Amino acid sequence: MTHAYYTDSYTLEFTAEIIAAETLDGRPAVLLDRSYFYPTSGGQPHDTGELRRGGEIARVVDVIDRENDDSGDGNTVLHVLDRPLSPGPVAATIDRGRRLDHMRHHTGQHILSRAFIHVAEAETVGFHLSPQTVTIDLDRADLSPEAIDAAETLANEVIWSDAPVSVRFVTAAEAATLPLRKTPPGRDGLLRLVDIGGFDLTACGGTHVARAGEVGLVKIARTERRGATTRVEFLCGGRALADYRQRQAIVRDLGAALTTGPAELTAAVGKLQEEAKALRNELRQKSAALLALEAAQLLAAAEQRGDARLVMRAFTDREPDELRRLATALAEADGVVALLGTAGERTHLVFARSADAPGAMGELIKPALAALGGRGGGSPTMAQGGGPAAGEATVAATLAAAAAALA
Ligand SMILES: [Zn+2]
Repeated sequence: MTHAYYTDSYTLEFTAEIIAAETLDGRPAVLLDRSYFYPTSGGQPHDTGELRRGGEIARVVDVIDRENDDSGDGNTVLHVLDRPLSPGPVAATIDRGRRLDHMRHHTGQHILSRAFIHVAEAETVGFHLSPQTVTIDLDRADLSPEAIDAAETLANEVIWSDAPVSVRFVTAAEAATLPLRKTPPGRDGLLRLVDIGGFDLTACGGTHVARAGEVGLVKIARTERRGATTRVEFLCGGRALADYRQRQAIVRDLGAALTTGPAELTAAVGKLQEEAKALRNELRQKSAALLALEAAQLLAAAEQRGDARLVMRAFTDREPDELRRLATALAEADGVVALLGTAGERTHLVFARSADAPGAMGELIKPALAALGGRGGGSPTMAQGGGPAAGEATVAATLAAAAAALA
């Protein structure tokens, strides 16, 4: 019950006495006769900081409450250090930015959790605070965007009312008569209650700001349905400001790129997407027309081989899909065998024939691809496959060998 931060979250510099020095999992750790350092618990991460004695400085890299109960005399908190310090007096400093960020978010969490009960009867069943994200899990999966906005608005009204945040201790029997949002199970002795100006009352061991106004702002960043619960990610104070800055910079850059104001951005992007879609359609039509024209030219130059007209052609750096479409267009004419290939970083062969033309393309392509060090196959009328890099002359020779095999 005597954790110093229970009744004073603002003392971040103090002197103390190292009363025991030991190791924890190979790391040096010390017990102090008094400490304001917060140990990881209740969803809130530990403080960081330093212990100094003269020129000796050790970083406090982890804080662990070894007993993890409130009945001790406060000496159960182990300060894990980056270097050993021997017993004796030290000056301690808790990292201010990290602690204040935790205090703002933890207090913001209490307010937001109560706001969700008011607005949607949604209870908080989980809380997580890390340097990257702060989330609560609500026991509802069907929260509407309007309910989420309403809870956010209510939480900010409480913050702007600058409601006082007070801490008091009650017995378990007394706690049972109070409208607590959350009661830790099976707790003996005194309970620490955090009261936010009558708006929210709950049992909690975390560090909190003294007035709701210090939270500054609570902004919900994202909600995500997870089974029967909803995870709500939110930002308070400096994190909300940093997020606002980043989003403003994005909107500014987009506005400059599209020469439009923030209000018109959505419409401007929608217009760009429409234009891109129309251009893609136009390109598809034009390339189909070009392929048809190319197929007609190749057919006009085709040589008669027995019962079929043979189109044999080696290209360089053509897309396999385009090659396949060209072969399909050629095979739509009567009595055609098309043996196409492309050279380049990757070779690709497509063999196709009309329904009435001779030859088994699937069989024919296998030795051709094998000669190129590649693989593939297909049906009697259409086959394709690829291989490693090869020059146009090599591909042309491979096609010529396939044409000879066909005859
Ligand atoms: Zn709390």
